[in-house]
Amino acid sequence: MNTTCPNSASCPIFNGILAGKDYTAKVYRTKYCEGGEPAFKSCKRFMAKEKFGSCPPNLLPNSTLSLEEIGAKYNLA
Ligand code: SF4
Repeated sequence: MNTTCPNSASCPIFNGILAGKDYTAKVYRTKYCEGGEPAFKSCKRFMAKEKFGSCPPNLLPNSTLSLEEIGAKYNLA
């Protein structure tokens, strides 16, 4: 079973955008990226990419914005 998010290779959150925040990055990776399919499918970054075909680089996995709000804020819709 593939338990790592299929977007991880190109995802800046997974690959160190949170420089200096190692603990936070590790929490995101454990909770979302490497937590299995239900986990990464609950990541707002994953959901945004599914819906819009791309994801803003600075969107966080646990963003409280809805997908509609993300689309409007980043002009993705
Ligand atoms: S789960 Fe979210 S943060 Fe992690 S690699 Fe996938 S899209 Fe990026």
